Amino acid sequence: HQDTRQLEKNFCPYCGTVYACRNISFELFPGEILGIVGESGSGKSTLMQCLYFDETATGGEMFINHEDFKEKNIFALSNQQKRYVRNHILGMVYQNPAKGLKMDFSSIGNIAEKLIAAGNRHVGEMERVGTELLDKVHLPLFRMKEEPKRFSGGMQQRVQIAKALSNYPPILFLDEVTTGLDLSVQASVLDLIKTIQREMGISMIVVSHDLAVIRMLADRTMVMLNGEVIEKGLTDQILEDPQDAYTQQLVYSLL
Ligand code: ATP
Ligand code: MG
Repeated sequence: HQDTRQLEKNFCPYCGTVYACRNISFELFPGEILGIVGESGSGKSTLMQCLYFDETATGGEMFINHEDFKEKNIFALSNQQKRYVRNHILGMVYQNPAKGLKMDFSSIGNIAEKLIAAGNRHVGEMERVGTELLDKVHLPLFRMKEEPKRFSGGMQQRVQIAKALSNYPPILFLDEVTTGLDLSVQASVLDLIKTIQREMGISMIVVSHDLAVIRMLADRTMVMLNGEVIEKGLTDQILEDPQDAYTQQLVYSLL
């Protein structure tokens, strides 16, 4: 369970009043997929990057229901503790596979790297986990030693997903993972995400500008516009009865 309160990100606190994210509060419940939808520039990636500490939130708090960090604002932890949270509790799949993968390492080497960062030094174990996860994302055995730079976009995303899963994070963020892929490839990646969620019971935040993707995956949905949350609720409810004018426009464009 993750609880985010009043998250704020201002890229330029001195020169302006333009917030990439403002007053963002939400909960992520165990085993659910929360969708975040919004147009380009609405602040979705900034929000994910703040939650994963790639960016520093300029305001707000985040809590994670984990024995070591009970009642602690995760944003206020030391860098060392944040590293622990990143290596053991959170996972991130970036829109750009080059951000999540070392393109020149082998695929299995990418997973080993992540496991080493999390404190695992057992070579046999790394190989076992790597093979198991790459198999789960349907990378053929004979390609596991190949570098991701040689793969198609869809396969790179699948390897990135395997890497993000390698320390079995209870919470996984996925930022536009299917954007730019062919529709058929998109479908297979979305399918994979759903299967993983079902089998591993991971709580996920799935970000997309495409409501069709969110409709396919998310139990609940949050709509962002200009850095703020303008609507949230059960995905079915939002699709059936959107309240905000912007959400209505999004939903009608689906039909
Ligand atoms: P997209 O759908 O295009 O990925 P998004 O919803 O992810 O869009 P963000 O990338 O979070 O949107 O951007 C939100 C706002 O923050 C934009 O106005 C953007 O220009 C600004 N922004 C993002 N990153 C930075 C940065 N490093 N420095 C300054 N401004 C930034
Ligand atoms: Mg983005």
